[in-house]
Amino acid sequence: MGQVTKDQVIDALRTVADPDSGRDIVSQGMVSEPTLREGHVLFSIEVDVRRGAAFEPVRAAAEKAVRAVPGVLSVTAVLTAERPAGQPAGAPPAQPAAAGGGRTPGGQKLELPGIRHIIAVASGKGGVGKSTTAVNLALALSANGLRAGLLDADIYGPSMPRMMGISGKPTTRDGKKLEPMLNYGIAVMSIGFMIDEETPMIWRGPMVQSAITQMIRDVNWGELDVLVVDMPPGTGDAQLTMAQQVPLSGAVIVSTPQDIALLDARKGLNMFRKVDVPVLGIVENMSYFVCPACGHQSDIFGHGGAREEAARLGLDFLGEIPLHMAIRETSDGGHPIVMSEPDGLHALAYRAIATRVWDTLAGVTPRQAPRIVYVS
Ligand code: ADP
Repeated sequence: MGQVTKDQVIDALRTVADPDSGRDIVSQGMVSEPTLREGHVLFSIEVDVRRGAAFEPVRAAAEKAVRAVPGVLSVTAVLTAERPAGQPAGAPPAQPAAAGGGRTPGGQKLELPGIRHIIAVASGKGGVGKSTTAVNLALALSANGLRAGLLDADIYGPSMPRMMGISGKPTTRDGKKLEPMLNYGIAVMSIGFMIDEETPMIWRGPMVQSAITQMIRDVNWGELDVLVVDMPPGTGDAQLTMAQQVPLSGAVIVSTPQDIALLDARKGLNMFRKVDVPVLGIVENMSYFVCPACGHQSDIFGHGGAREEAARLGLDFLGEIPLHMAIRETSDGGHPIVMSEPDGLHALAYRAIATRVWDTLAGVTPRQAPRIVYVS
């Protein structure tokens, strides 16, 4: 089977009509240049934000048309729209432009019957070890005997392919859903599997939304006790959408001791509260430094700040992870410490956090009855 070409994709899209004008979406200039990677196709359809919801059938038809091209393994079509003038950056579109982003016509969240709990791992800013925590937490939940999955929603800087030591591309068995990638006993999905790391992608709000929801909805996750979602850093659009559209059971906030003051801006915490997602607690990462040579412990960043801050905010403190070379080397090298040194102190620390998270989830109402709260 030959390589799929951009022209083939564009030709297939010429068969899809814009319902308003009756003309095809390509000649209307609505389709972005497709990104192709060995049979995996990604493109966007630009729509007026007010027509977003009505455009879902067109988006679906576009995916179907491209899927019919020989050699195509998966198709991701996302609706993009300019934010209407005057709408603040943190606010979701009044009419979700990314209708493919998971809301059913009744305004419900995504239905994911096979997944018992979805939890977000979030941070106030980048570089605090959110992804490292997410990956080790997922592995620790799995080590504790749970069926765990890992979704890399950090689409601006997907790190799960590298941290989980997975290369290659997802395939589909039924032509509808992608199979997640597997390693160390857990299912993983990341936009990093679909697009070239070198391919610059400009993610606009609605495109972010539908990329993330599609990675949840259009992936054959099977039966999971818990899906751990590595959120994009910060508290912008992408996070808000995730929190609104994905039936999250709760959120774990990662902070370093010196950044805990930033959390005090309470953006992250408030964001989850506004959308009615319980904050399960705070993990203090890079909490203290243990000298590999002499074993001396130094509290270089003022160890314990997160514990105090958690108490002050009325949140649970889930645990602390030291700043340690082995944690960096293993997660950056694709062998996260929970599986590469399963009996070590760090793995035990992550497993203790996983136990606390799971115990807290037991007290959380299952996500089957989602309540949607809009942020004004
Ligand atoms: P984020 O997702 O918040 O941007 P990462 O998880 O990518 O952060 O971590 C940033 C860097 O810090 C990575 O190189 C990672 O290996 C390293 N790192 C994270 N946590 C620790 C830790 N506890 N000890 C040492 N290095 C760490």
